[in-house]
Amino acid sequence: MRTLVTGGAGFLGSHLCDRLIQEGHEVICMDNLITGDTDNIAHLSGNKNFRFIKYDVTEYIFLDGPLDNILHFASPASPIDYLELPIQTLKVGSLGTHKALGLAKAKKARFLLASTSEVYGDPLIHPQPEAYYGNVNPIGPRGVYDEAKRFAEALTMAYHRYHGVDTRIVRIFNTYGPRMRLNDGRVVPSFLHQALTGENLTVFGDGMQTRSFCYVSDLIEGIYRLLCSAINDPVNIGNPVEMTIMDFAKKIHEVAGGNGEIIFKPLPQDDPKVRQPDITKAKGLLGWSPKVSLDEGIRETLNYYKKKLNIK
Ligand code: UDP
Repeated sequence: MRTLVTGGAGFLGSHLCDRLIQEGHEVICMDNLITGDTDNIAHLSGNKNFRFIKYDVTEYIFLDGPLDNILHFASPASPIDYLELPIQTLKVGSLGTHKALGLAKAKKARFLLASTSEVYGDPLIHPQPEAYYGNVNPIGPRGVYDEAKRFAEALTMAYHRYHGVDTRIVRIFNTYGPRMRLNDGRVVPSFLHQALTGENLTVFGDGMQTRSFCYVSDLIEGIYRLLCSAINDPVNIGNPVEMTIMDFAKKIHEVAGGNGEIIFKPLPQDDPKVRQPDITKAKGLLGWSPKVSLDEGIRETLNYYKKKLNIK
């Protein structure tokens, strides 16, 4: 198997590269390093089955030789990143997905799109099943990500239906773990960084909004199973254990310690009030469900950040 991972130097992309190498694939990792980091793949350099190409996948992608799979994971993925990189976010979801699908068609490769729970926007149905069409504000600050991913899903289905490309779509819910950028602005690295440095934990809004956090190894298992399956329709992968951000802040204090208090900051515009994946489909069709508890996952992530920050 020869597999291309776009965004392969990112948080999820790099964990996927690891898994694919483990499964015996020859992996080509492509990343323009806007939000990705070669530190995430440094341990793979020198591996004869791994190759890194610094490249912007919104440009025409030329690759020699056969290709069996393309996993399209290139995109800024945190609210702060896509506020800072709105055009790049729209371009990679649209032009980048187009180039990656074009390559899949030319090589007769299987194509897996990294989509997101953001396609459901600020959801009016809870928990969110795949059949829900979502509630997205197209012109709000998050619209650049949400609409790019919705377009990417539409394009993927069009290539599947019209060109017969063998496609998969994973809708990824909040995921955390080692290699998440400490400064990416998402709640897990922010709170852990704050706890480790003794700062106050910044809860946005009243903290009553909810999220459901999936540990990265569980997510990668789900994605790998989806890749190996024959399911062309979108599948939610995420952990259904839901909690308020306030309770999450308390949990971080409990596991990570820290002397800071919990303080409140303004809620960003269009911040979804609730989010929980309905994983009935993944359970039934992939035999998949998450295994790693929040405590265990937070501890692993904490250890990673301690090493990064040289904290004993
Ligand atoms: N959040 C927070 N404090 C922070 C960062 C985020 O309270 O320092 C909140 C944010 O408003 C949202 C939730 O935590 O309600 C999850 O935010 P994140 O940026 O991780 O991703 P999202 O799920 O919104 O895409």
